[in-house]
Amino acid sequence: MSTPLLQIRDLVIDYGKGESRFRALHGCSFDLEPGQVMAVVGESGSGKSSLVRAVAGLVAPASGELLLDGQALPPLRKRPPETRRIIQMVFQDPGASLNPLHRVHAIIEEPLLVTGYGDAARRAVRVAELMEMTQLSTDLARRRPRELSGGQKQRVAIARALAMEPRLLIADEALSALDFTTQDHVSRLLSDLRRDLNLAMLFVSHDMRSVRRMADDVCVIEKGHVVEQGAVSDVLYNPKSAYTRLLLAAALNPRAALSDPRLAEALENGEAVSEEALKGVMDIIRGGALMGDAR
Ligand code: ADP
Ligand code: MG
Repeated sequence: MSTPLLQIRDLVIDYGKGESRFRALHGCSFDLEPGQVMAVVGESGSGKSSLVRAVAGLVAPASGELLLDGQALPPLRKRPPETRRIIQMVFQDPGASLNPLHRVHAIIEEPLLVTGYGDAARRAVRVAELMEMTQLSTDLARRRPRELSGGQKQRVAIARALAMEPRLLIADEALSALDFTTQDHVSRLLSDLRRDLNLAMLFVSHDMRSVRRMADDVCVIEKGHVVEQGAVSDVLYNPKSAYTRLLLAAALNPRAALSDPRLAEALENGEAVSEEALKGVMDIIRGGALMGDAR
């Protein structure tokens, strides 16, 4: 086996110091191979962003190891340009991450300028190529972000990230702000890009449909603890932890989940749910067409 692209070893993330220290992640470990997609799921506040922000170098781990191509991955300000290039990030709010004053072509060109890519003509060719890769029609090139739909803005953010020719793309709830249909389109785009570019991804999401479509593996985090991880086909179809089952029940098929009165009540009260109740819900979910499309 070759060296994994990314290795995460016992990663612990704290916020604050001393008395006010809060542990957001209590140890997470996994490897990511080139071209592999790992989904990170869990409810809000479970530590998903903390994990991927540490990989992006935006948060310094309290302990543990991050290795890229087998080499220690320092915080962002200590990363050499080549390392920065390899890991790119796309955020949840496609509007906030784009300069509102710039036109689409300038937004996508910016990383090319910063890294000294070619001359103006060469950059224009590359911008056109990136727009085509992200299925942005050329007539959008002169628009400003506020003149774009949410899906178009997120495509621009993806095009800008791809300009650096990353090997690892971190998408932190990148689809969450989009409407249902647009989520499908953008997740398909990401799948295609992943295949065409052999792009590895850390895919943080609430949407189990796109997790299932996009990811090879999934890491389930509950309150900073990894409760389950493995192949999507195992974890999503045979979840071992009650937490994963609850997440699935609530996220995949809320109607089925809510049709189970015990689960509905427990969800409402924020209570832990009995194994038995979850089993009932999982049976409903397995029995139906899971997440709307055939397996
Ligand atoms: P998620 O992305 O799963 O919603 P986060 O990683 O953003 O979760 O947050 C995990 C926990 O860490 C939450 O309880 C959150 O309030 C806390 N947290 C996140 N960022 C900070 C910060 N900069 N300072 C203090 N606490 C934080
Ligand atoms: Mg988050």
